[in-house]
Amino acid sequence: MRYISTRGEAPDLGFADVLLTGLARDGGLYVPADWPRFTADEWRAMRGLPYDELATRVCLPFLGDSIDEDAFADMASEAYAGFDHDAVAPLKQLNADSWLMELFHGPTLSFKDYALQLVGRMFDHVLKQRGERICIVGATSGDTGSAAIEACRDRDSIDIFILHPFERCSEVQRRQMTTVAAMNVHNVAVDGTFDDCQDLVKAMFNDAAFRDTMNLSAVNSINWARIMCQIVYYVHAALSLGAPDREVSFAVPTGNFGNVFAGYAARQMGLPIQQLIVGSNENDILARFLQDNDMSVHGVVPTHSPSMDIQVSSNFERLLFELMDRDGPATAHLMQTFRASGKLEIDDDRWHRALQLFSGHRLSNEETLAAMKAVLESTGELVDPHSAIGIVAGWTRRTETDVPLVVAATAHPAKFPDAVEAATGIRPALPPFLSDLYDREERYIRLPNSLNAIQDHVRTASNRAGGV
Ligand SMILES: *Cc1c(COP(=O)(O)O)cnc(C)c1O
Repeated sequence: MRYISTRGEAPDLGFADVLLTGLARDGGLYVPADWPRFTADEWRAMRGLPYDELATRVCLPFLGDSIDEDAFADMASEAYAGFDHDAVAPLKQLNADSWLMELFHGPTLSFKDYALQLVGRMFDHVLKQRGERICIVGATSGDTGSAAIEACRDRDSIDIFILHPFERCSEVQRRQMTTVAAMNVHNVAVDGTFDDCQDLVKAMFNDAAFRDTMNLSAVNSINWARIMCQIVYYVHAALSLGAPDREVSFAVPTGNFGNVFAGYAARQMGLPIQQLIVGSNENDILARFLQDNDMSVHGVVPTHSPSMDIQVSSNFERLLFELMDRDGPATAHLMQTFRASGKLEIDDDRWHRALQLFSGHRLSNEETLAAMKAVLESTGELVDPHSAIGIVAGWTRRTETDVPLVVAATAHPAKFPDAVEAATGIRPALPPFLSDLYDREERYIRLPNSLNAIQDHVRTASNRAGGV
């Protein structure tokens, strides 16, 4: 299996290099050169498999000779063993024809654990094979930082530095990062905003000498390996509801377009998915694109669903590449014009092709609160703001009620207790394994918004010289 860049200029790579590289050298994103496909009989044979075994079946065609089957199976088994539900990604019936796919049973309570728990192990595996160490740096305002830290903690070949804006994260989210006691985990509270943190990370990557000596790497959502791991729960849900002998639709609260793109990938692999419904908050560029072919950048506004407060969805480029019939230079040209003008122009034919599968729906902040309340009243489920957007988007935009609708519940309600309480009057409790989160000791270093200060800290705190 080879991977090609969406911009057509970077070298083709195998899975292990794609895993470690993240962004392609031409600025594009890696995608499989061909979509592997399973036959109906092959899908049927996967019904009823435990989640980790299903993950191995689904991911194997993507791995090439980078990771062998037994090693991958062991990593998958370990990755999901600690999840707090035996089904890993259980389906809960909401009403006669729609189901909630609970993706919050991992250690940090968001769907990001489903990919990152496996990706952290794959990083370590490949790095050990190569005798290398890496230093992961990232900025976070929310769920990614904690999921990445949990995925990389105690891995021998990795140091991880996560920058968060001092006193500007929610307490649950900060504590999920700062209470992890592991030698290779380094939390930095920056005197600045989330944008300052992101700029510092970018500046570290742009400092070529620093990047090379520290062997910097990232685990952001453009990494193909994350998408690959997310395909598994689409397959898991669809098979449970009768695929491949019956179509299934999905609704997904969407920010960077990574999660829903994994649904697209599952469909390319032959899974009969009828609709992929994208839920947006007030940062609604994707919903505007799908409704009016209007993909123009507005400013980011803060909402009750902060993990979707994104204007430019980085993974959208992967869909664009497909809509452009996999023409790299044409995709590169569109992306460059988009960056320069803030507006993506795509002809009506291609746009209509996107609409055969995707539809989008936007909820305002008020509608998001109303959605949580309405879902609780009509189904008895207390859901987080992101999941509520997915549910109402799905209910509003589905075209056929005899096709089962599966909604991705991307976070546990206790990750967003203030919004849930404002909407429903109920303050959701953390699951038992996190119930002492507020009593755990926090560890982080507070640093000024200064590249020099941060780089000095990364140099001295990382374990790369000798290791522990
Ligand atoms: C990250 C996140 C999203 C957005 O997922 P994308 O893959 O970026 O579209 C939605 N909900 C929650 C809770 C998240 O943490």
